[in-house]
Amino acid sequence: MLTFNHRTALVTGAGRGIGKAIAEVLARHGVTVICVSKSADSCGAVAAAITAAGGRAKALAVDVADGAAIAAAADSLLKEFPAIDILVNNAGITRDGLLFRMSDADWNDVISTNLTSCFHWTKLLARPMTRARWGRIVNITSVSGVMGNAGQANYSAAKAGMIGLTKTLAREFSARSVTVNAVAPGFIKTDMTNEFVNNPEASARILEAVPLKRFGESADVANLAAYLCSEEAGYITGQVFNVDGGMAM
Ligand code: NAP
Repeated sequence: MLTFNHRTALVTGAGRGIGKAIAEVLARHGVTVICVSKSADSCGAVAAAITAAGGRAKALAVDVADGAAIAAAADSLLKEFPAIDILVNNAGITRDGLLFRMSDADWNDVISTNLTSCFHWTKLLARPMTRARWGRIVNITSVSGVMGNAGQANYSAAKAGMIGLTKTLAREFSARSVTVNAVAPGFIKTDMTNEFVNNPEASARILEAVPLKRFGESADVANLAAYLCSEEAGYITGQVFNVDGGMAM
């Protein structure tokens, strides 16, 4: 078991996939989890399941691409909770296409949902962490941000931006014992990768580049993210950890 001392966490994109797995593992460790997703149904179902299993959770539907919506949500959460000690920036989308065919909307939607959202949440929630001299921020980036990936100019730029943000904020917050790290998943079986995982030709092609020769599970990412949020990870900051079956080594 990891040590959490009854902390409170906010996890974005907690309605499905990797974010849901992170919310669940944190809740199993006694963390109160604020589950954010775009639709009220998905975060509501996850929070209800956590509560039914004896954990503590709250569901909150927020469009993370909307800075004003984040500001309103953070304002009311900081009044409701004495502290939000852990922030996991996990919400993300893809709008793939080669550069010459990529629309401005596909560029802007991916940058605002994946990257600008981290700027807004962190700016609002990190200040009380720095005052309390304890905090954990984990940003879920991607191997696409580490290696680049043809057809994902918008997504890999957003994910590489999250890595730069992680390293800079790790330096800005280090004197206050607030750590900032990134986790870079490879191909994990979720709704986001359904179309590749369930297509035998595409999955065979992808797995050629994965030394462990299988797709990852959401729990593979969630277990590392939870560790980085724990008391035990207090001497780790500014790092990027790949969870990718060896793809980006
Ligand atoms: P997913 O199954 O598609 O789930 C995405 C979650 O993000 C959903 O809960 C969704 O909310 C939420 N979300 C999307 N746009 C949002 C918005 N504008 N406002 C609020 N919430 C929003 O994705 P996943 O595969 O778990 O991916 C999670 C993270 O890991 C993403 O950042 C992704 O880029 C990254 N990642 C995934 C993989 C992979 O192989 N799966 C690989 C590398 C990196 P709703 O439930 O309401 O739709």
